Amino acid sequence: MEGDKPFELKQVKVRLRLTEGESLYSGRPLITPQAATDVMAKVIAEYTPEVFLFGASSIGRDLAPSVSATVHTGLTADCTGLAISDVVKNVNNAADKALADAKIAELGQDVTVEDKSKVMTGKDGKEIEIVNVVYTYHKQLRMTRPAFGGNIIATIACLQHRPQMATVRPGVMQALDADDSRTGDVVMLDVEPTNNLEVLETVKSTKASKDIIEAKILVSAGRGIGSPEKLHLVEDLADALEGDVSGSRAVVDAGWLPKDKQVGQTGKTVRPELYVACGISGAIQHVAGMEGSDYIIAINKEESAPIFDVADLGVIGDVNAILPKLTEAIRKYKASKVN
Ligand SMILES: Cc1cc2nc3c(=O)[nH]c(=O)nc-3n(C[C@H](O)[C@H](O)[C@H](O)COP(=O)(O)OP(=O)(O)OC[C@H]3O[C@@H](n4cnc5c(N)ncnc54)[C@H](O)[C@@H]3O)c2cc1C
Repeated sequence: MEGDKPFELKQVKVRLRLTEGESLYSGRPLITPQAATDVMAKVIAEYTPEVFLFGASSIGRDLAPSVSATVHTGLTADCTGLAISDVVKNVNNAADKALADAKIAELGQDVTVEDKSKVMTGKDGKEIEIVNVVYTYHKQLRMTRPAFGGNIIATIACLQHRPQMATVRPGVMQALDADDSRTGDVVMLDVEPTNNLEVLETVKSTKASKDIIEAKILVSAGRGIGSPEKLHLVEDLADALEGDVSGSRAVVDAGWLPKDKQVGQTGKTVRPELYVACGISGAIQHVAGMEGSDYIIAINKEESAPIFDVADLGVIGDVNAILPKLTEAIRKYKASKVN
């Protein structure tokens, strides 16, 4: 996070107090969303953190809105940037000024207030107060995310509620090396969680599917492949490259690939060493999820396709003709290296 001074970090270990016979655990820890919300809300109530962040994983996306609603604060989901800096807010009416003053007092915020309000006399001789107060809130969390379908980048601040909460999608930010010196305090907290769900059955997914965020090589299918029957061409190339398959939202919406394979603004952000875009137009919402890839190859029949703007190597042509040849060439090359 950018900013002049990092926040104090606190590690909180939570001990769940279970009543006899309650089965929050079945083999491995199984915590219901309500119980997890109770735990988080208790941590927030006890330690009143300024900032509370979640990964926008499937668990984080479930939990963060539930926690923010419980503790009555805002939540900025799917942030692409976080920073700490001053936020200036102009207030031009008495009701907003009263609310801002009350919140500043309630939250004990560090705010510089410049009151430029003045009293003017109207033509009828009556006095009117023109409210104009400039509040400079210090050390606020500025949360940046795409908005309106990715057409604008919005920076959002949560000035009047605490904690300031955001989710950040995995892969959006470069992970720093672990710094063992920044351990924070470890405190124990007892929580008696609500258990309002009964688990009837736990079924393990039979499909061993790798998370595309982890993939070093991704071959990604777009609507340009034409039909789900052609998906095997993409799978064959991924297999030859020892990579994984992902896709655009068009392909996922059409049911050709599962949702967890979607790359982009409403899918996953990936940074593989190699990303091969097959029949993908390169819409801004798709590019947002893959432009951090080390090397991008794009195959598209339209020379003007925007995907070529982010590609390191562009191939203009019919993807269904190119893919089998490319796969065959790679297999031959690999075989020649073995022999
Ligand atoms: C709020 C919002 C969020 C979104 N989030 C996402 C997201 O997370 N991920 C995402 O991908 N999209 C997202 N979209 C949708 C996005 O705008 C595009 O509609 C989508 O990416 C298009 O997918 P596509 O490129 O596969 O299909 P198309 O736009 O239909 O493009 C197909 C491409 O294939 C090419 N083509 C066709 N036939 C061939 C052929 N035989 N050989 C070679 N090339 C061929 C065409 O020239 C074209 O460029 C979002 C949209 C909105 C509004």
